[in-house]
Amino acid sequence: LFAAPSDFLKGVVAMDGLPPADRIELCFAGRSNVGKSSLINALTGRKGLARASNTPGRTQEINFFTIGEAHYLVDLPGYGYANAPLKVVEKWQRLLRQYLSGRQSLRRAFVLIDARHGIKAVDEEIMTLLDSAAVTFQAVLTKTDKVKGKDREKVLAQVREKLSAHPAAYPEIVLTSSEKGDGIATLRAIIAELE
Ligand code: GDP
Repeated sequence: LFAAPSDFLKGVVAMDGLPPADRIELCFAGRSNVGKSSLINALTGRKGLARASNTPGRTQEINFFTIGEAHYLVDLPGYGYANAPLKVVEKWQRLLRQYLSGRQSLRRAFVLIDARHGIKAVDEEIMTLLDSAAVTFQAVLTKTDKVKGKDREKVLAQVREKLSAHPAAYPEIVLTSSEKGDGIATLRAIIAELE
């Protein structure tokens, strides 16, 4: 699938801006700075496709990318900005809820978790939202090159335990490093198998 070219399609700020739900769709969610842009760039093999510096001013945008002819990769706004204005946060939460609960073509969400930090309260919020929208989600650990051995095992145990409380969580956790390229092929294969 990822041998086909990926392109930026559009940034969406309201439900009426969504492209038609006529492709297999998957989305990426994660706290700001989790490594989401780096991962999308690594997956698509296009440096700079996803902008690596998300700013609070752009938190309400849902970015659509095409992969080949039959898939949309969706970059959800990074969450967890401590100082984003409440109004901005509320607006994007509303859009996010509407998008997640109404998108027929959405096959899976990938929730990115920093391998150094594990699942935080803001990650739990998005997971709970995915539960209630009945969107199957899969945890993807990022920056695994920064955590080794026992520390990594500890984080994995925490992630496993937290995931078990979420009915929409898929049990398999994907370990990635955009820097080293680890897990990228695995994640590509998972995406290519979505139907
Ligand atoms: P985003 O805000 O979630 O889109 O995060 P970015 O992709 O912009 O990455 C945030 C920071 O983490 C940047 O400084 C990246 O260079 C760094 N980063 C991203 N992925 C990795 C990784 O796999 N390993 C390491 N060591 N650093 C990473």
